[in-house]
Amino acid sequence: MESVFIVVVILVVFFFVVQKRYLKQDELKDSSYKKKGPLLNGQESAFYNALTAAVGQHGVVMTKVNLTSVLTPLATDKKQWFIANNRIAKSYFDYVVCDPRTLEVRVAIELDNGKELSKGKVDRQKLLIHVCKSAGIPLIGTNIKHSYQVSRLRRLLAAHIDLIESDKEVRFCKRCGSPMTIKVASQGEHKGRRFFTCSRQPHCTYTENYNVVFEEEG
Ligand SMILES: [Zn+2]
Repeated sequence: MESVFIVVVILVVFFFVVQKRYLKQDELKDSSYKKKGPLLNGQESAFYNALTAAVGQHGVVMTKVNLTSVLTPLATDKKQWFIANNRIAKSYFDYVVCDPRTLEVRVAIELDNGKELSKGKVDRQKLLIHVCKSAGIPLIGTNIKHSYQVSRLRRLLAAHIDLIESDKEVRFCKRCGSPMTIKVASQGEHKGRRFFTCSRQPHCTYTENYNVVFEEEG
């Protein structure tokens, strides 16, 4: 009697498993797909190319990155966390520049196509400005008209990413004339970024922004 019961149970379980699998496959059969085409339109890909040229080996450019891939809400309360997460779940960054080694996002870039902003777009920009400020990610807005100027892009990016090869840069202290050495900031808002410091430290405390050369370029 007991063995009959077990066989029945096994049959029932088997039936459910088969049915579930079968139904699942059927659901998928109902939906077919086709490719949408290139990830970026003409203007967007032109900007992408300019951006990768501007960044060079110093960063990796990614496009259409969902906000939830980059950010997570600070809220510890489950409900609040979900609300905050849902708020960003449907939005993406136009472009992000990541650290070439760790792929950590360093800068977010928003491309303005020069057209009038719809309400949806205004809301999106408000959201982007808020989340970037809150998470400490620099957000650069750039107009499509200037987007093909690689040197201009480099100048914009240089404020946030080190774009110069360290071995090509030799500088001398503007205060005492000694050679300067390159150091990496270990704390503060420029953490992880390089800067020049006088080799006579601590006797001379002069330091210089690593990317100052781009600001002088004009
Ligand atoms: Zn000095």
